[in-house]
Amino acid sequence: MAARILDGQALATRLQVDIIPEVQAFIGRHGRPPGLAIVLVGHDPASEVYVRSKVRTASAIGFRVDLERLPATAALGDLFTLVDRLNLSEAHDGILVQSPLPAAMGPEAEPQVFDRLLPAKDVDGFSPHNVGLLVQNRASVVSGTPAGVVELLEWEGVPIAGQRAVVIGRSDIVGKPLAMLLLHRHATVTICHSRTSDLAAVCREADILVAAVGRPGLVTPAFVKPGAVVVDVGINRITDWAQVEGLFGAGHPRLAQFQRKGSLLVGDVHPGVGAVAAALTPVPGGVGPLTVAMLMRNTLVAARARLERQPAGAGRQHP
Ligand code: NDP
Repeated sequence: MAARILDGQALATRLQVDIIPEVQAFIGRHGRPPGLAIVLVGHDPASEVYVRSKVRTASAIGFRVDLERLPATAALGDLFTLVDRLNLSEAHDGILVQSPLPAAMGPEAEPQVFDRLLPAKDVDGFSPHNVGLLVQNRASVVSGTPAGVVELLEWEGVPIAGQRAVVIGRSDIVGKPLAMLLLHRHATVTICHSRTSDLAAVCREADILVAAVGRPGLVTPAFVKPGAVVVDVGINRITDWAQVEGLFGAGHPRLAQFQRKGSLLVGDVHPGVGAVAAALTPVPGGVGPLTVAMLMRNTLVAARARLERQPAGAGRQHP
């Protein structure tokens, strides 16, 4: 039987509709919308697409959203100056610095920027303070992609407690925080990476298998226990016809899509997994849209925390 499709796009749309009255209520209470600043350095094509989607969604739900651009030639110091200004800005409750930063900024640029972000405005949940809170299961803001994966599993009624979960990928933005979230929900979690031996055998133990790697078709049916739930976080743009044909097989409808567009977005999970898994997230339309939806939620949470956790009477005019 073919796997049930876990429709992340449908959940993301619902979350975005649900948040609108909350944004309206926030505006009613504070006289201004939640404010999000998105920092984009350079012109990485994939980042341009992601940032456009974030700006569009934030505007659609009623946020103030400001795209702050720096040229690809900007120095790390210029980025620090911008982050410092946004940290102090009254109008911005959330700041997001789009990854990746230009390679010329150096390998330590991203962690240094996340160190510099005010944790209260770090709506990606990447600052060391917020990562620490996540590890201690006290986080109010969790990185959008892992938070979106868990939101989808819970919405779809996939049991997590007591299940064996295997996460392939140990990045700071997906693999590690997702493993923490699953652990806090009482899964027994294994994290795999490029040095894991006999990856397929480890993965076959999973009731919930998550691929967050960036390699098209890495997870073949041999990785999947029959009846497992498979979450495909990977987003890979392929432009090679032979690779598309190798993945999908002759006559598959996605070949026609490739011919129309000249490229195809695929995940890390081989299409053949659909015949083995009980449920599967598609790419596109699975985890991706939820990343944006969770970012919006994080921004509202940050805005409320900034403006509503003041002591009673704070900001009132005294007679
Ligand atoms: P990284 O490159 O930071 O991490 C990839 C991880 O995969 C690493 O831990 C690496 O291991 C591991 N890995 C690489 N090759 C193998 C292999 N052959 N076998 C097992 N493990 C392997 O990527 P990200 O975590 O940033 O992103 C992962 C994927 O998710 C990408 O396709 C990205 O585009 C996508 N993504 C999707 C998002 C969404 O919204 N849906 C958001 C963010 C990312 P090691 O640590 O040993 O190098």
